[in-house]
Amino acid sequence: MEFLGEILTFGIDTVIFAICLRQYIHCRNAIKAIQNVELHDVGADLENLVNNTHNKIDYIAVRGLVKPLGEPLQSIDKKNVLGVIQKLSVKEHVIARTSAGFWSDQKRTMQKVYNVVPFALKNGFYYAEVIDPLSANILDLDVISNHYEPIVPTIFDHLWGFLTGIRQRGLQTTEKMLRVDSVITVIGELSKSETKSGMLTLQPPLNGSPFYITSMSITALIRKIDDHRRMYRLVCIICGAVGLLIGGTVIRRYWKDKERKRTAEELRRNLETSRRERRQRVRDADLRADQMCVICNTNAREIILLPCGHVCICEDCSSSINDNCPICRTRITQKAAAYII
Ligand SMILES: [Zn+2]
Ligand SMILES: [Zn+2]
Repeated sequence: MEFLGEILTFGIDTVIFAICLRQYIHCRNAIKAIQNVELHDVGADLENLVNNTHNKIDYIAVRGLVKPLGEPLQSIDKKNVLGVIQKLSVKEHVIARTSAGFWSDQKRTMQKVYNVVPFALKNGFYYAEVIDPLSANILDLDVISNHYEPIVPTIFDHLWGFLTGIRQRGLQTTEKMLRVDSVITVIGELSKSETKSGMLTLQPPLNGSPFYITSMSITALIRKIDDHRRMYRLVCIICGAVGLLIGGTVIRRYWKDKERKRTAEELRRNLETSRRERRQRVRDADLRADQMCVICNTNAREIILLPCGHVCICEDCSSSINDNCPICRTRITQKAAAYII
């Protein structure tokens, strides 16, 4: 393949472009959706609003205090901290040799565990239960603890690292929680609970709008998503420019190649014609019958046929005689110019 490198780069570029474009559109739609959303505190007003809209609001922002519906989760590291969502993760810090031969710092998630208990947003006597919190597009959790333990390498580790291209540096364990009694905003679908009377439920919207559980204000959330949107837009522009550049280079090279072949063919044809004309001019017009080509009876005999060795045709006729010698019918394996002085 002539343009394999370019096609591969173009393919990777297109994939990155497509992913970023998708994310960009997602962010843009999310911002549009959140900008139009109404913010309400859990309470009597919200209950009335739900009752007046056939027990369901497709997209709304609801603010309240986090309360567990049952026993809360206890932090592993700080026993006095209680929460409703707990995320435990172990990351390995390594220095890995990249394909370019350099060593670079990398983090690899070795384990990630979520613990969740049912919880609701509370305000006074009013509750709104949050369903399926882990499917939220943004889920803000507080960092409860973050420990890093460096690994002291032995000589064996150094040798092993050199051979495998990975050197371990340390382990990072992190605990994050959604704390009890923290104020959060949930943006999603609100409806009356079918199972628990008097309870509202907040869940991921069925119409595909993003679901957010955040401690940020709505403006801060929009700003955060807008930052992502800008980043994806920048990557899209860069990838688009790279794609155009590669496409342009390939087309230019293909065009030049074609042009070069065309010029070479034209030159070859011109040479052929001029050679033929020159030969025509120097031909002897006064030939004996046994000196004339047996095919056209006009030009001199100029070509020797091998293996039989007959010199019986001119160069013009030789282009149409390829199979057998016209004199002895021997199969022709080769033709060459014959110079008879
Ligand atoms: Zn001839
Ligand atoms: Zn022959």
